[in-house]
Amino acid sequence: MPGLMDMHTHLMGQHSKDSYTEKFFMEESDYALRSTIFARATLMAGFTTVRDLGDNGINSVSLRKAITEGWIIGPRIYTAGKSIATTGGHADPTNGLKGDYRRDAGPLEGVINGADDARKAVRQRYKDGADLIKLTATGGILSLAASGQNPQFTDEELKAIVETAKDYNMVVTVHAHGAEGMKRAVLAGVNSVEHGTYMTEEIMELMKERGTYWIPTNMAGEWVAKKAEEPGYFPEIVRPKAAAIGPAIRQTFSKAFKAGVKIAFGTDSGVSPHGENAHEFELMVEGGMPPMKAIQSATLEGARLLRVEEKLGTLEATKLADVIAVQGNPLEDISAMRNVVFVMKEGEVFKQP
Ligand SMILES: [Zn+2]
Repeated sequence: MPGLMDMHTHLMGQHSKDSYTEKFFMEESDYALRSTIFARATLMAGFTTVRDLGDNGINSVSLRKAITEGWIIGPRIYTAGKSIATTGGHADPTNGLKGDYRRDAGPLEGVINGADDARKAVRQRYKDGADLIKLTATGGILSLAASGQNPQFTDEELKAIVETAKDYNMVVTVHAHGAEGMKRAVLAGVNSVEHGTYMTEEIMELMKERGTYWIPTNMAGEWVAKKAEEPGYFPEIVRPKAAAIGPAIRQTFSKAFKAGVKIAFGTDSGVSPHGENAHEFELMVEGGMPPMKAIQSATLEGARLLRVEEKLGTLEATKLADVIAVQGNPLEDISAMRNVVFVMKEGEVFKQP
């Protein structure tokens, strides 16, 4: 089948109890070198293309280059660079820190307040070499902040981001759990919604009308809910959010799939361990999606969302030779997607029996 595509990964990290403190001890070069392990694991799992949706800086741009140049092996990367947030928002890098560390960050680091900052942050991402824009439209689970779902951008800020991104031919995707922030983003014209946890029927209709893609990330929901049960794993400000929001993603999945919202495959790997991406297929099928649809969400639909369907997403003579094989028939047992035995990317074989 065609090489798989994961629309939501974070190759610069992999969550552990140390995730909240490692930034005080890790150099940028440490992040970059470690990410080569995650990139390899992702490719070996059959994922020949990924989006990287939020990095601490621009290491993912360097990782993309190292793979393109053939210095290391990994998937084809489309990166958002550093996510854009507002002050105190989900991707504000100084949330939860003490005193001086809790300083004001600005558009350079992806923290904006107002339309001018918003335009500047998008242009900065373009200058940094990002391929697309990611913003955190609502609170999130793993950040050191109280709300996991409040709206965090004004309509004016969202409009400025979407308009500016269009000037640079970049798509915009938004992290969103709560309905209000999600609705504002969809109405502002973003291309896709990540997580979409508390998606209402009204938002489903708006997304269908506008052709907005949804990347459900069931795996992230499952992973944080499980870790929330482990005493002391999460800081106390994170744990209740993980316990409440995590399981809700999977309930939304069945409803939104039935309603006909366009779905592209994404795992949020880097929350869960890299290389286990194919587990998402099992959760999608458990949620009521036919196996073929689930596979297409990670091939054809991924290519459409990336706007590369003329060269990727199906096996055709005119396209790039991204080809994988699994042991078994995934249409009978979707778990076969975890047994990837052959990986070819652009005609080069990286894994074979
Ligand atoms: Zn994410």
